[in-house]
Amino acid sequence: GVRPLIAGNWKMHGLRADGLALARAVAEGARGLDAELVVCPPATLIAAVAEALAGTPVAVGGQDCHAREKGPHTGDISAPMLADAGARYVIVGHSERRAGHGETDAMVRAKAAAAFAAGLVPIVCVGESEAERLAGQAEAVVTRQLAGSLPEGFAARGGVVAYEPVWAIGTGRTPTEADIAAMHGAIRAHLARTAPEGAGVRLLYGGSVKPGNARAILAQPDVDGALVGGASLVAADFLAIAAAA
Ligand code: 13P
Repeated sequence: GVRPLIAGNWKMHGLRADGLALARAVAEGARGLDAELVVCPPATLIAAVAEALAGTPVAVGGQDCHAREKGPHTGDISAPMLADAGARYVIVGHSERRAGHGETDAMVRAKAAAAFAAGLVPIVCVGESEAERLAGQAEAVVTRQLAGSLPEGFAARGGVVAYEPVWAIGTGRTPTEADIAAMHGAIRAHLARTAPEGAGVRLLYGGSVKPGNARAILAQPDVDGALVGGASLVAADFLAIAAAA
């Protein structure tokens, strides 16, 4: 199958000394692993982390980008700026940005297109709320988010999808293995309907992935990797998850 991808989303964590030490410890343990590793530090650390990781197998990603290349957008960071700082990936449409910054599917789609244009690989996040799952709407919600959030040519250009049920993020709760397999199967089916290359898109699961549950989650069909939050802040935990892939 495809090479597993394990991405660490540091979120708003990491001052310079801690972030560099974490990145170096991840690189130290990365050699010999089958999985491809990416760390996504806060924007302030991307350049320094990219420099520290140069020549190692660990890639760097951003956590968000603006849809435009440049312009009067105070506080925002463009995809070309991330690429210039040494990033190869960028997370877009994380639920914390959809909820906290009002990002719509259309905005996420524009950000993912901007990422491609800058030579970055977008990791597009989708996922239902707990209320939506309880209402039996999880697959419908995720399919609608995919239809609205993925730009033209997404699969052919190597885009990555991360399924992150909102209620599993930072809660220690996860869907059952069967529910993860069902959702990833539904996402795969949607992608395959949309483009012939859909079969090859890497589908990550995210939401309370820990060393103790990683092997079972990563063994599910159509789970090609993980997007890890809290556990990516501890090098040994992140590496244990990667070793389970
Ligand atoms: P946790 O692993 O902390 O649940 O976070 C998941 C996440 O949001 C990754 O993007």
